[in-house]
Amino acid sequence: MTTIAIVGAGLVGRLLAWQLAKQGQRICLFDKDSKSGQDSAAYTAAGLLTPFGESLSCSRDIVRAGQAAMPLWKQLVAELESPVELYSQGSICVSHAQDWGDYQRFCQHISQHFPDANLTHLDSAQLQSLAPALSGRFERAAFIESEGVIDNHQLLTALAIELEKLNVEWREKTNVVAIEHQTVITERREHFDYVIDCRGVGASPVFCDSDEAREQDISMLTDLRGVRGEVLHLFAPEVDIEQPVRLMHPRYNLYLAPKSRKGHYVIGATEIESSDMSPVTVRSSLELLSAIYSLHSGFAEAQVIKQLSHCRPAFADNEPKIVVRDKLMQINGLYRHGYLLAPVVLQSALSAIETYWSPALTSNSHQSDTLLKDNCSLTPNRTIQPNRAFQAKKMCPISKSFAQQITHSHEGQDV
Ligand SMILES: Cc1cc2nc3c(=O)[nH]c(=O)nc-3n(C[C@H](O)[C@H](O)[C@H](O)COP(=O)(O)OP(=O)(O)OC[C@H]3O[C@@H](n4cnc5c(N)ncnc54)[C@H](O)[C@@H]3O)c2cc1C
Repeated sequence: MTTIAIVGAGLVGRLLAWQLAKQGQRICLFDKDSKSGQDSAAYTAAGLLTPFGESLSCSRDIVRAGQAAMPLWKQLVAELESPVELYSQGSICVSHAQDWGDYQRFCQHISQHFPDANLTHLDSAQLQSLAPALSGRFERAAFIESEGVIDNHQLLTALAIELEKLNVEWREKTNVVAIEHQTVITERREHFDYVIDCRGVGASPVFCDSDEAREQDISMLTDLRGVRGEVLHLFAPEVDIEQPVRLMHPRYNLYLAPKSRKGHYVIGATEIESSDMSPVTVRSSLELLSAIYSLHSGFAEAQVIKQLSHCRPAFADNEPKIVVRDKLMQINGLYRHGYLLAPVVLQSALSAIETYWSPALTSNSHQSDTLLKDNCSLTPNRTIQPNRAFQAKKMCPISKSFAQQITHSHEGQDV
């Protein structure tokens, strides 16, 4: 039977292991962390699904893919046995007087470039009825429908439960030292038919702790960097806000993400060009906390429950890539858009697997997966040059833009 090793059980690795195991593939999942996934960017993230809110600092493709991901998230979450809160009823953007110029630019940009976002300007009465907790401090706000937030901790747990049910072999607390062709190297060398590398920043030489691996590991992504981000988890029983809120801020893309447990919020996130994974700094805490206190005075009595920091995996253009080199696939560079894009990246990865690794894989797959079947069904044809194949074949329009970024090589040679 064909075996696939997936290295990294963060956001991408967990989702892909789940989808492939459901198809009937035999999966071995490696992670240096425990099943809780607390050492991943996936755990640190706030889980915002706000494509238009991101639009000032990302490409149009990312916005459109993020927009397409929301209905796919609904499908995915509905398939999970364990509950995962997915809020999709819109987000709010507010600004204090000193950041008014940025706020106007933000609203104009969305109205001009994404009229279908249906950005609505709320006056104080409308804000009072939509989000009463914000109406005391802000006289107006912008509302963007269909944006939302996912409870990422619930998601990681729910996926772990599904993987267990599907009998996925999960090598937790197992550091992968290097990946070679069809081989995963831990304390020993293990051979697999295919290997999928989903290590996030762990695939960057910057985060590699062995000089030998840095030089010899063919899977090291030399152009991958980490972008540090910090978030705080608060319990604020006095504050009742249900929508994700973006607060204009001169230094960060600052937001409040309500979590499924009442009164629980994540505030974030700093964005620092550094691969530093050390704990949250005093400066960042002060900035985040004073910004959040300016949103609602009830945060003064909030308890700081957790402080998390991690690095977002990013390529130079801050866009995700799927690289296929014979029997090794690498999915990385989801940057600050992992949750925003995950269902679409998942589709592209499943399509790439279907295209490059079939028929060996499809012979034992049930082909029951709706994402694959409905949106990305590709006829396997290994003779067509992969980049062109992705453009020529039937593909869902959204994953097409990512598919064009898929590169393919034999023995390390791009073709
Ligand atoms: C502060 C912060 C806030 C964010 N907020 C959002 C948000 O609101 N919305 C959004 O869409 N995105 C957000 N993101 C981005 C999102 O978290 C990432 O894009 C996403 O998690 C990347 O997924 P991944 O699977 O590639 O990497 P990860 O989720 O980091 O998973 C990688 C996994 O690989 C494992 N691993 C690494 N190296 C090895 C090794 N050598 N051996 C074994 N296992 C290994 C790690 O333990 C980890 O479990 C945020 C990120 C940060 C840091």
